[in-house]
Amino acid sequence: MHKINTVTFQDLNLNTPLYNALDDLGFTTPTPIQAEAFSVVASGKDMVGIAQTGTGKTFAYMLPILKNLKFSKQENPRVLILVPTRELVVQVVDEIEKLSKYINNRVLGVYGGTNINTQKQAIAEGIDILVATPGRLYDLALSRVLQLKSIQKLVIDEVDVMLDLGFRHQLINIFDILPNRRQNIMFSATMTHDVDDLITDFFISPEKVSIAASGTPLENIRQQRYDTSNFNTKLNLLKHLLLDVETYNKVLIFVAYKKMADRLFENLDEEFKEELCVIHSNKTQNYRLRSIEQFREGHNRILVATDVMARGLDIDNVSHVINFDTPDYPENYMHRIGRTGRAEREGNALVFSTEKEQEALQNIEALMQMKIPLLEFPTEVEISTELIEEERPQIRERNNPHKRKKDEDAPGEAFHDKSEKNSKVNLGGSYKFKITAKYKKPKTRGDKNYNKRNKKK
Ligand code: AMP
Repeated sequence: MHKINTVTFQDLNLNTPLYNALDDLGFTTPTPIQAEAFSVVASGKDMVGIAQTGTGKTFAYMLPILKNLKFSKQENPRVLILVPTRELVVQVVDEIEKLSKYINNRVLGVYGGTNINTQKQAIAEGIDILVATPGRLYDLALSRVLQLKSIQKLVIDEVDVMLDLGFRHQLINIFDILPNRRQNIMFSATMTHDVDDLITDFFISPEKVSIAASGTPLENIRQQRYDTSNFNTKLNLLKHLLLDVETYNKVLIFVAYKKMADRLFENLDEEFKEELCVIHSNKTQNYRLRSIEQFREGHNRILVATDVMARGLDIDNVSHVINFDTPDYPENYMHRIGRTGRAEREGNALVFSTEKEQEALQNIEALMQMKIPLLEFPTEVEISTELIEEERPQIRERNNPHKRKKDEDAPGEAFHDKSEKNSKVNLGGSYKFKITAKYKKPKTRGDKNYNKRNKKK
């Protein structure tokens, strides 16, 4: 960390046009991600940077890229930057233009929902750096107006959001038409299994650069935890806690992925209808904004969110953050609990863990160098033995050679909640039927149509 604070722009050995642009912008010191990423990007190695918007990540890749991009009259772009939304295209182009104020280069942004012919004309005039959303990029490449054979550097920004929005197949299609010899630079705010899978499947040991996640939680956040045996028992516990409206007056519930967010929402809907909202990437932007507003204003007491969608959420007076699952990546736990205890108010964080999640819990505790106190499982809460699809032993599909993820394996021996004497067997009934009908089969690595099927919901 000490090293980062002392790095100056002079240490990066930039050139005069870049120094002049930085001067005009009034930037005096590289941000931590800029200091850390510079030499890796400049070296030509593949890289994954873990950084959120607002950390200066755009310049983290653009400074080394612009430093090394020679003037050229050739028409085909040499740098391709893929981002998930049109807003980001506009923003990134704007940043690059600021940094290129004294450089003679051609930057273009393209995205869907606008006239493709205008974009084709702009491309035909020749470009050096292309910023694009994946769908439009692919359409332009197929139309042959856009030649990608000169791409030397591929930047994928907000990989987590990109995958969450279901762009994996589009990305793979694009990889297919890019030259093999290229540098891959990726940025993601959150580490997720989808991001991990993409990296493992398509990139050869990229260097990981992250600004060390703070392992020191705020002192005003009281952290506690429950051991539970499965989804349905967690659900019973959650419902029990939420009944205490006075204590649990503004509750942000985290789950790892959108299917789980939907499932939880559906299960809470009957009892907490008027008080409940949800955000994840299958919801429209308007729906998400409305949900956040409803929660912020206190019209809805409970918000269910995924890690990817809750980044950067700035909501005051969250009484409780509930980790309905135990995050596999300890950094995500730190981000989650940081949503409560803001502005020095007292906050509360709870984490529910099954036996399979104990290892993740230990990693979180190791990062924080503290133990999270265990609460006794309330005797009045029913312990369910009804497993959801993902918790049952998986049957490998025939003709599917893909390996299974470790955490999709059979759940193993039952994990006993504290008050087992109180245990009742939940026979499932209509609930089980409803869930099975809605979700059919669990998402597996081999289920190539998963995103297609679920995208338009
Ligand atoms: P980003 O994370 O790339 O969206 O950048 C967030 C904001 O920080 C943008 O408005 C940048 O222009 C600005 N910024 C980038 N690098 C620096 C720096 N070294 N010093 C001050 N501001 C910066």
